[in-house]
Amino acid sequence: MYDLIIVGLGPAGINAAIYGKRSNLNILVLEKETPGGKLNSIPEIQNYIGYGNISGPELATNFYRHFRSLDIPMKREEVLELKLEDNIKTVKTNEGVYKAKAIIIASGRGQKKLAGFEHLKINYCALCDANLYDGKEVLLVGNNNQAIEEAKYLSDIVKKVYFLYEGDLSIEKDNIEIINDEIIDIIHEEGRIKEAIFKNKKIKIDGLFVNLGSGPATYFCKSLGITDDNGYITVNNNQETNIEGIYACGDIVKKEIYQIINAASEGAIAALNAGKYVRKRN
Ligand SMILES: Cc1cc2nc3c(=O)[nH]c(=O)nc-3n(C[C@H](O)[C@H](O)[C@H](O)COP(=O)(O)OP(=O)(O)OC[C@H]3O[C@@H](n4cnc5c(N)ncnc54)[C@H](O)[C@@H]3O)c2cc1C
Repeated sequence: MYDLIIVGLGPAGINAAIYGKRSNLNILVLEKETPGGKLNSIPEIQNYIGYGNISGPELATNFYRHFRSLDIPMKREEVLELKLEDNIKTVKTNEGVYKAKAIIIASGRGQKKLAGFEHLKINYCALCDANLYDGKEVLLVGNNNQAIEEAKYLSDIVKKVYFLYEGDLSIEKDNIEIINDEIIDIIHEEGRIKEAIFKNKKIKIDGLFVNLGSGPATYFCKSLGITDDNGYITVNNNQETNIEGIYACGDIVKKEIYQIINAASEGAIAALNAGKYVRKRN
């Protein structure tokens, strides 16, 4: 069992890992995509102390280099579920199950998941993945203007787009069918999407796209009761949630200012308090 598992390796998770390791904790870090998190998509940063002007990817590389220098174990896995069993925190990922005495959630904000279907292979970027479905039929679930643009983009490439959209909408394209219905189930075989079942109809599909806007990435810890109505995690001054030994930091937290500097600072506070908690338990 690990002393501490950290979910997410953006500025908050990286600094939590550095402080946790320097406190002699036995740590595992789980990151589903690219170390550095949001920094990787910021062209220019002008307000991070010590750098007048630096690109996001360069700052991410500097942070990650510091992290790597401490030999902290890290796995490229997505956390799918976080559970509490007899005061042991169990983390289920797409690859395995890990246990820890304490957890730090530093998963930031990202594309909202399709609730109930988080485990499926879903495409969250039509621009990136439309070509994979050339000549095929796909379902797009969306609720915003960007999703409407994605429906049009997809329709130029795929054979047919079923577009599940709440509200009045018409798009003048022969191969876009707008569906106003409730999704009940998505049938898949060995990870391949096969069929979508709605309250009033069923459709055969080859792929599933989702664009429900962005929000806090707390889909894996909803059942713990640590999030507010908007999905953000509430914490005390020690970055601890209402569950002992579970901490949160960075953009995932309900607060007023969402910046790199306070994400990193909260990571340090979370790790130092996780260390105190682990030593108290031992
Ligand atoms: C366009 C833009 C420009 C910005 N410009 C600035 C700026 O100039 N200055 C500034 O201070 N701030 C800026 N920010 C804000 C800053 O990027 C964030 O406050 C900061 O990145 C938050 O860090 P974080 O570690 O909390 O989250 P993130 O950076 O979002 O990192 C979270 C990490 O968790 C991972 N993750 C998520 N879910 C899971 C899961 N289930 N399993 C495993 N890993 C998971 C993600 O892949 C990601 O790597 C900007 C933000 C944006 C969007």
